[in-house]
Amino acid sequence: RIVVAGSANMDLVGLAPRLPSPGETVLGDDFVMTPGGKGANQAIAAARAGGTCTLLGAIGSDAFGVTIKARLNASGVDTTHVRTSYGVSGVAVIMVDHAGENSIIVSPGANSSFAGLSAAETAVIADSDVLLCQQEIPLDTVVAAAQAARAGDTRVILNAAPARELPPELLDSVDLLVVNEGEAIAITGSAGPDMPALLALVPRVVLTLGGAGSWYADRDGHDERIPACRVDVADTTAAGDAFTGALAVAWGEGRDLVQAVRWANAAGAACVRKVGASNALPGRAEIDALYAL
Ligand code: ADP
Repeated sequence: RIVVAGSANMDLVGLAPRLPSPGETVLGDDFVMTPGGKGANQAIAAARAGGTCTLLGAIGSDAFGVTIKARLNASGVDTTHVRTSYGVSGVAVIMVDHAGENSIIVSPGANSSFAGLSAAETAVIADSDVLLCQQEIPLDTVVAAAQAARAGDTRVILNAAPARELPPELLDSVDLLVVNEGEAIAITGSAGPDMPALLALVPRVVLTLGGAGSWYADRDGHDERIPACRVDVADTTAAGDAFTGALAVAWGEGRDLVQAVRWANAAGAACVRKVGASNALPGRAEIDALYAL
């Protein structure tokens, strides 16, 4: 059982030959509306990867909220505990040009109202094998969720994305930190990915390295680079979400972390073969097939 405490947004994606400059209007072509946010994406990734997954978070009372929840349910995510707060849902307004360059505005909306865990939310965390958090909801809520997990013997994975401050009361409750290279640099302030500096903060670290795979190290002396699966890349959007969701499932199933990371690599690779975000998150059979190669 996986529980994700995190953000849920509606992504509004407009495609145009080029991005408009300030004050300019350009004629676009395709428009796509799809649920997003790292919390929702990772919950969908975990459910598709075969996990039993519950999302804790907040959507707005608008039409986007209804659609977000319906899409989560259709992906197999338990939304029983998702709050509906009066007002707008989180929205990402995304402009993409034909070269794949983008400009994005994220409005947190209801995500910023996700505060003060209820008894029911705390119980879900305590009853789960793994809690997975990111940093697109209020920091106090991430801390409270991690502490509830620690009190209930639930393992805590923190995907520190986007990179924000990591207070000691949060780090004290984290079992496994998952970061990409940019986030690692932002957290440690080092010039490059600095594994010893990260292990000074938390007991276990997975560093994702895009097409170079990932790197697992822990305080017990494990230190291993796990190569990526070789695939034809169509779009790297949501690779990190596919990876992290699958990693939570594999660790929750009791696999050792190096094996779990290898399986999560297969999930990330399966995701980059397809264009899109939450729609590109792979199912368990796809992950198993790449893992077996
Ligand atoms: P993020 O999307 O958070 O920046 P990464 O780009 O590091 O994360 O990708 C996460 C994981 O997805 C990688 O560790 C790797 O396993 C997989 N992945 C990403 N890009 C590729 C690629 N080009 N080929 C194969 N696997 C990839």
